[in-house]
Amino acid sequence: MNPEQARIEADLRGLISGDVFCDDLNRQMYATDASVLEIVPAAVVRPRNAGDVAAVVRYAAENRIPVHPRGSGSNVVGGVLGPGIVLDFSVYMRRIQAAPGEETVRVQPGAVLANINRQLDRFGRLFGPDPATRSVSTIGGTLALDSTGSHWLKYGSPRDWVRKLQLVMADGSIIEVGAGALPDPESRRLAAQIELVLGRRRQVIEECQPKTRSNHAGYNVADIVLNGQLDLARLITGSEGTLAIITEAVLGTLPLPRHRGVVLLFFDQMQNAVRCALDVLQEDVSACDLLDRRLLSLIRSSDERFQQLVPETAEAMLLVEIQAEAGPELRSRVSALEQRFRQSRQAAWTRSTCNTDERNFFWRMARRGVPMQFAMKGSRQAIPFVEDIAVAPEHLPELFRELPAILNKCEVTATVFAHVGQGVVHLRPQLDISDTTDIARLESLAAMLFELVLKLNGTITGSHGDGLIRTPWLRRQYGRLYDVFAEVKAVFDPGNILNPGKIVSDGTFQWTRHLRKTTPLLSDVRTVEAGEEIPLTVPAAKVERQGLLRKGKLRKTKGTIEPQTAISLPQIAMEAAQCNGCARCRTSSPDERMCPIFRLNPREEASPRAKANLIRGFLNGSIPPEQLNSESLKQVADLCVNCHQCRIECPAGVDIPGLVIEAKAQHIAVNGLRMSEWLLTRLDVLYAVASRVPRLANWMIGNRVMRWALDRLFGIAQSRKLPLFSNRSFMRWAAKQRLSQPPRREGRKVLYFVDAFANWNDVELGMAACAVLKHNGFEVYVPPGQQISGMSMISAGVLDRARTIAAKNVELLAEGVRQGFHIVTAESSAALALRHEYLKLLTDPDAKLVSQNCTDLSNFLWQLHLTGKLELDFRPLNYTVGYHLPCHQRVLGHVVAGMNLLRLVPGLKVERIEKGCSGMAGTYGLIRSNFRRSLRCGLPLIAAVREPHITAGCTECSTCKIQMEQGTVKSTIHPIKILAHAYGLMPELDDLFDRRSGALNIS
Ligand SMILES: Cc1cc2nc3c(=O)[nH]c(=O)nc-3n(C[C@H](O)[C@H](O)[C@H](O)COP(=O)(O)OP(=O)(O)OC[C@H]3O[C@@H](n4cnc5c(N)ncnc54)[C@H](O)[C@@H]3O)c2cc1C
Ligand code: SF4
Ligand code: SF4
Repeated sequence: MNPEQARIEADLRGLISGDVFCDDLNRQMYATDASVLEIVPAAVVRPRNAGDVAAVVRYAAENRIPVHPRGSGSNVVGGVLGPGIVLDFSVYMRRIQAAPGEETVRVQPGAVLANINRQLDRFGRLFGPDPATRSVSTIGGTLALDSTGSHWLKYGSPRDWVRKLQLVMADGSIIEVGAGALPDPESRRLAAQIELVLGRRRQVIEECQPKTRSNHAGYNVADIVLNGQLDLARLITGSEGTLAIITEAVLGTLPLPRHRGVVLLFFDQMQNAVRCALDVLQEDVSACDLLDRRLLSLIRSSDERFQQLVPETAEAMLLVEIQAEAGPELRSRVSALEQRFRQSRQAAWTRSTCNTDERNFFWRMARRGVPMQFAMKGSRQAIPFVEDIAVAPEHLPELFRELPAILNKCEVTATVFAHVGQGVVHLRPQLDISDTTDIARLESLAAMLFELVLKLNGTITGSHGDGLIRTPWLRRQYGRLYDVFAEVKAVFDPGNILNPGKIVSDGTFQWTRHLRKTTPLLSDVRTVEAGEEIPLTVPAAKVERQGLLRKGKLRKTKGTIEPQTAISLPQIAMEAAQCNGCARCRTSSPDERMCPIFRLNPREEASPRAKANLIRGFLNGSIPPEQLNSESLKQVADLCVNCHQCRIECPAGVDIPGLVIEAKAQHIAVNGLRMSEWLLTRLDVLYAVASRVPRLANWMIGNRVMRWALDRLFGIAQSRKLPLFSNRSFMRWAAKQRLSQPPRREGRKVLYFVDAFANWNDVELGMAACAVLKHNGFEVYVPPGQQISGMSMISAGVLDRARTIAAKNVELLAEGVRQGFHIVTAESSAALALRHEYLKLLTDPDAKLVSQNCTDLSNFLWQLHLTGKLELDFRPLNYTVGYHLPCHQRVLGHVVAGMNLLRLVPGLKVERIEKGCSGMAGTYGLIRSNFRRSLRCGLPLIAAVREPHITAGCTECSTCKIQMEQGTVKSTIHPIKILAHAYGLMPELDDLFDRRSGALNIS
């Protein structure tokens, strides 16, 4: 932190009750949004109330520092970026006040749009505008951009629903604006001044407006007089934080739609689709979206069900939604629309539905395409830049006619998605922003497209606003009207403090100078030979400091970057650069599992995106390398528990947990281990010792005084139920059963990998696994010498010891594979370690062999069933179990195998409990400092298990079991044990459903 930043931090901390950060890490986390730009701010502030905002703005005005309001930061045009103070509303200012019978909702700017609608849903109401990012978008950002989405035809844009806004003005004063009488003199003064400007420039305003249905370029000066009265709230909405800062809003809502149906129309030519879309718009439809061939083929490739739905040769698809007050009316209108296009043969294929599930499925399918383009690996990415041009719908055929020629000329491929009713065309070209040729391509593409759009009386932004990217083009679009924008800006913000450079600018900003730094050091690391000149894209001093080494490595000195995992620096850099900042990983949607830690602690550093930004910052030299060993980085890294949910749900498929493990390991490499980390490294030894004296160990687990001591000494939460130790280990039992000898008989054979829990705690689980496998005709081999999986060490970044363990396991298991065994394990985390994590630790090709020949037991048996080879001689079981899918199990397969298997047992009722992550996240929930948070996360799951009709919980993961038994005496059972019981293989399991957990121990 330089002295200037230190001064800002000290000053602001004295002024406000919210958070203030000026350190390198926080500033780097806020240096990007979902655009291609990167600008490191001077400070980050998280205000708690409007008073904080006013104080910051007053301070900024006095010191001439710009202020940049920010919500979730999903902006695609650099609208939240700048060198000044970022105001992040998404942490503390999230209040939503909705009440039954009310037609409005009062919200703070950081409230997430989807959360607002979840609250309104309880009262049968809705805030209509629906940008695609609604599960993460804040209402502040949505209003500031006037964001809309597929249902614009029905609900218009936020501007139409804003009733009142509380604003912090450029001088720090707080005012209220909205339709009707203006309450305070300051708002009346502003309104009078704006009326004066508009009155003087009425003719220019009328002449220079684009002839489109939707326009988000510049200020909305054409449409702010309502019922003869100027409505300043309509001007502020869409002004991108440049005129005032929104600190509260009252929004109009409307009743939820009663009945909705969808018609899908597929075409063999894009032009046919565009022509038909214009016909569709003659009808009363609530949405009409167009997708091109590239998006359709991405959609088809993502899911077998989509393959059946989308014809292979379709060149375009229209999704049309119809809403109606009554079911019969809906059915007749949906059927009429479908018939019309089918019979006239305008559409080559059609589908329609009025069924809720199928309708949601159709929407999910259509929404799948755009995010899927982010998953393409490599340096070329789908770039947001020219992605929301708009023309009047009747000009769309001409636009689509000329589009291919422009793309060809610029040698660019792009996907096309359009909201036809708005005339908005989302276009994302695939380009590499670190390649100067591609940048030149992007510039000529933008120039040609914008010229075409302006020729058609359109607008360069019909949806996402101007930000830093589009602002330079505004004068070209508006001509004389641009001066009116400058006058409006001068009325509100004469000192140019509020989000400067957006909408009104002095024309000096060059976006190519502020491109996201992908990885400047990367090229050096790969190409430099001893004695060779280094082709620098970063200042020489930085390279010197970072100790670039010849031959593609970094010199090992304190503070340098040398990978701790087996992943090379270029690969790590490539992975981090793959994150496009889309903010999807900030979602709290109940339909997803994305980041349980962010859900508990919704602040930027807890998001997966923050981790990618930090790693990128280190690798490109934005953050000094010595910070890699700092406590602050460790704290951010510890906000990841290696659950892998972001890896599978991130549209770009960024391996965030992999990046975090690297960061944790870097910290340990320099700072050594803490007591809790050291404990993890000796987990196997501790387990072995405890299992030698199980009575003593179990007494300690159940004794409150001993638990208090464990809490104080090792940080293990004293109220957390823990597993008891078994009298003998599973490995000893297996040796006695001669399972530790490779079977001599030929036939189907498996190698069972046991891991810690089944070896020392739940020995019955290992026995059940062997029994079920044998019952299904497998020869089981339990090789002695196998280690624990080491997953908890890997998650904590304790890699030296994890690597030693992984190497031993791989040597043993690979030999088994070579002898014809397939590896199975009943512990989800162990399967993930063998399948995925060991590859990050070892370069040994045997690690790959093990990874490719290992399956978790539930999936293994389910596959067996699908080939008709699973024995089905189950006894009926008259119980109801609540099944929870563990995060690590979810990563392993596409089907809920354990639940499916249990459903084969006659009489057994299996209810799926889908409440997201259990909150245990490996050993995270065991630790005292995390205990309460972990419980809060797991509470919905625990409550579901407590339901009187549920006999027992059921899950594959040993730590999820611990959480599911916390707060209830009911037992949680592994599906394999239930199968063994249903097969009647183990008499000792007869009391399986009667078992109870204790006050401090699980069953
Ligand atoms: C994959 C993807 C899809 C998208 N789809 C759509 C879409 O369908 N429709 C659409 O309209 N947009 C879309 N966007 C753009 C953007 O995500 C949305 O417009 C979103 O609503 C912005 O909300 P946010 O909280 O992320 O705002 P941010 O990005 O944080 O901020 C947006 C703007 O609002 C300003 N701002 C934020 N809070 C305040 C405040 N309290 N007072 C004043 N100004 C403030 C910021 O300075 C910035 O200029 C998409 C973006 C992505 C990455
Ligand atoms: S990690 Fe993935 S979901 Fe999160 S911002 Fe990056 S690309 Fe988007
Ligand atoms: S692995 Fe899990 S905890 Fe870590 S960032 Fe991803 S979702 Fe969050």
